[in-house]
Amino acid sequence: MENGAVNQQIPVDTTSATITIKGILSLLLQNVDENDNKRLISLGMGDPTAYSCFHTTQVAQEAVVDAIQSDKFNGYAPTVGLPQTRRAIAEYLSRDLPYKLTSDDVFVTSGCTQAIDVALAMLTRPGANILLPRPGFPIYELCSAFRHLEVRHFDLLQENAWEVDLDAVEALADHNTVAMVIINPGNPCGNVYSYQHLEKIAETAKKLRFLVIADEVYGHLAIGGKPFVPMGVFGSTVPVLTLGSLSKRWIVPGWRLGWFVTSDPCGMFRKPKVVERIKKYFDILGGPATFIQAAVPRIIEQTEEVFFKKTIYLLKQSSDICCERINEIPCITCPNKPEGSMAVMVKLDLSLLEDITDDIEFCFKLAKEESVIFLPGTAVGLKNWLRVTFAADPNSIEEALRRTKCFYQRHARKL
Ligand SMILES: *Cc1c(COP(=O)(O)O)cnc(C)c1O
Repeated sequence: MENGAVNQQIPVDTTSATITIKGILSLLLQNVDENDNKRLISLGMGDPTAYSCFHTTQVAQEAVVDAIQSDKFNGYAPTVGLPQTRRAIAEYLSRDLPYKLTSDDVFVTSGCTQAIDVALAMLTRPGANILLPRPGFPIYELCSAFRHLEVRHFDLLQENAWEVDLDAVEALADHNTVAMVIINPGNPCGNVYSYQHLEKIAETAKKLRFLVIADEVYGHLAIGGKPFVPMGVFGSTVPVLTLGSLSKRWIVPGWRLGWFVTSDPCGMFRKPKVVERIKKYFDILGGPATFIQAAVPRIIEQTEEVFFKKTIYLLKQSSDICCERINEIPCITCPNKPEGSMAVMVKLDLSLLEDITDDIEFCFKLAKEESVIFLPGTAVGLKNWLRVTFAADPNSIEEALRRTKCFYQRHARKL
């Protein structure tokens, strides 16, 4: 291998299908020089609670405290979730749909992560394959590997604002394709899909006879001009499995409250056998703590618009600063301004660097020399790009990118 020396020093097996974001970030963290007195700044992980400006609303905190103190929620909840929680989530999601979801469409999960697992567990069968976006969110690959579900990747087209390459989808699909996944607003790309693009996705899926898994964990976190449109809007065209959670919009990823929802007005998922199968699977899962579930109706009903607006304002402000500063550093560019979510893909120009061969080496050296952490694009399926999380306070972003600029100057190719 030509860069064997680098691989010895950087213990990342990029050939593995089961590379995880957490795994690669923990290796980067180990590489930070502890004797250095620079403060560690991580723009690698999408956990906004690391920065105090991103804080959940008091309404949510009070709802949880009251649920605990009521002494009514110390027991087991039904495995599919408390009825009032399912109802509240159905009503919340129905606000943006041309039809009404019912409680029976909603299954409460331990975060969106468990909703992903449920979706793939329900769909897998011998010989089945699933279409996943590249770049994407590696939990889908990892989960598919455990389920023996064959993965086929379609590209997101950077020059088309990271839209789905629908021609590739058509070329990849066959009669064993069970679903395609879209993540909107997008992680890692920060894109938001238009109504028209989602409609095309729905029509493609209908034609090819598979369903759409819509990861809307960043639902409503749209910071550009485009509004967020849920995929469920096209539920009459094609059955949609909507996955989401409180984690991102309410800034409480540790509460582990998510949902798996059948946005399917035609009722394909209401066949008794299908419902029975989903329910049985939930019997082995164990969802979020009962008192967190009990707090959900109040969290959804009473969170004020000003809380959401503030989050959008903060994300917009930090993403603007992030892109501006990145574009001031010659070796990295931000070709697509983020329109939503909390992350953006940044392109690395290796021809401007003297002694760095790829995104992984860039991130490891940057961690070591500057105590700044970005996620190598390889971890999300796009080599020689970086994923930068902008859910951080502006000062940290400024400081991280000031250090990255120094790093560039030290490693710039000498003319
Ligand atoms: C954060 C994230 C998840 C996981 O959400 P949790 O509610 O924390 O489990 C799923 N999908 C994407 C795209 C995410 O960014």
